[in-house]
Order: sequence, then C-alpha cells, then structure tokens
Amino acid sequence: MAATVKVLTKPPRTLADQAYVPAIASGLRLTMGRFFKNTFSSREDGEIVTLMYPEETEAYPERFRGIHRLTQRADGSPRCVACLCCSTACPAQCIHIEAGEYDESDPRHGYERYPVTFVIDELRCIFCGYCVEACPCDAIRMDTGAHMPPSTSRDHFLYDKETLLSLPGRDGSYLTANPRHEPGDPSHPGVDRERGH
Ligand code: SF4
Ligand code: SF4
Repeated sequence: MAATVKVLTKPPRTLADQAYVPAIASGLRLTMGRFFKNTFSSREDGEIVTLMYPEETEAYPERFRGIHRLTQRADGSPRCVACLCCSTACPAQCIHIEAGEYDESDPRHGYERYPVTFVIDELRCIFCGYCVEACPCDAIRMDTGAHMPPSTSRDHFLYDKETLLSLPGRDGSYLTANPRHEPGDPSHPGVDRERGH
C-alpha cells in the first residue's frame, strides 16, 4: 500500500512575529505583573508561596526523614550497641562506627558494646531510612523534623556521636517511646550474662 504523505504548510510569519516586539511586551507584562504582585501582596492573600527562609519555615510532614539522631537511655548514654546493622544496611556507606567494650564494672560489659565513634556523612546520605529500619534497638531515628542547615564546609555535614545524641525528636525528647530493659532489670528478666543466651 502506498504511503500517504501529508504536506503541512509552514505558517506565515507576520510583521509582528518578525519584529519580536509584541512577544517581548507580552513577556514583560507577565513578569512585571508578578513582580508587583509579589511586592505588594502578603502571604495571607495566598498570592505568595515563597518563604522568607530561614526566618520562616514550613513544618515537614510527620513521616519526613530528617537529620538523624541517636536516641538515649534514661541515664543519657546511647541506646546504640554498636552492632553495625545500620552501617551494613546503608547503601551509601556513609555511616562509620567503631565499637568499644564497657568497663568490667559495668553490668553491660560482655553483654553489649557501645559506639566509641559514630559518624554519619549527611552529604553522602540518600535518606532512604534503611539504617532506621535495620536497627534492632531503636537507637537511630530520622524523626528530628529538620533538614541539614546549609553550609559551605563539607566538614559541617559530618555528624559525630555527640552531635547525633544532642538532637531531639519532634516531641523534644532525646529518648524513644519504645521500652528498653537493661541487663539485670527484674521487671523484664530476659537473657543476660548469668542466664546465658
Ligand atoms: S538514610 Fe540510608 S543512606 Fe542515609 S545513613 Fe541511613 S541507610 Fe545510609
Ligand atoms: S544504631 Fe542501631 S543498628 Fe546502628 S550500630 Fe547502633 S544499635 Fe546497631
């Protein structure tokens, strides 16, 4: 079957098209209209959507994944037991942990470890939340409701253990609602060194 060829005629160029002046005037009218609207309107009018950041901020949705924090125990020490589950699950490999043993006098000695070093490179992080999912102790969370403050220094995005522990959740708490039973807790006699594993 022979192909049907449809010939399109090129639209003619008018003098106005050729001069570009009407198109420029139309563009300027739009730009100036927006300019005056932005200058003399307020956010209450609903005309302006731009925030005067950082003085003004918008609350993020409840499930927003913000800056990480390390949750604390009641005594202020990290809940983290340095199991490395989060750093293993992290696809961006931006969590660095060095584990240490508690003192021999501490009931946690030989039972669990703690992070001597815990650093997250927030610039490399892709905010997938896998670290939070992987943690068996609810020790790492992204419920701060805040994003990283801007900076021109790369070092400012390296969040160390002290910084991560100093960040509260949205509710202002450094703890977490999930209960934690310490070794030897009589209200929850689970496994410990005496009972074995
Ligand atoms: S949110 Fe994802 S990329 Fe960021 S530290 Fe956690 S696991 Fe790694
Ligand atoms: S934050 Fe959680 S997953 Fe990561 S090392 Fe500590 S206890 Fe393990």
